[in-house]
Amino acid sequence: MDDDTIRATLAARRAELVALREQSAESRQPVTLDQQSVGRLSRMDAMQGQAMAQAAEQRRATEIARIDAAERRLDDGTHGECLRCGEEIEPKRLEIDPAATLCVDCAREG
Ligand SMILES: [Zn+2]
Repeated sequence: MDDDTIRATLAARRAELVALREQSAESRQPVTLDQQSVGRLSRMDAMQGQAMAQAAEQRRATEIARIDAAERRLDDGTHGECLRCGEEIEPKRLEIDPAATLCVDCAREG
């Protein structure tokens, strides 16, 4: 993949994440603790739903940060280099995850 393709892939992924974030913004709102309008059980459901929505949002934020970092590496010409050993990351791996920061060997070592 050339840099333009990588940039396009990253941008598309980010747009997807931002769209999901906007869709779920409402479910992350603080749960209203109004016992008259919401029964105790449904309030617990709502709080559980909110916690799940917050966890999903956390994952999206992490992924967007990875994309930002990948774009910065494209800018400074280090994209595709393993952050740990400096070897080139396998092209197949970058095709699957253009924001990958480690080569297969280093990723396997954790
Ligand atoms: Zn490596």
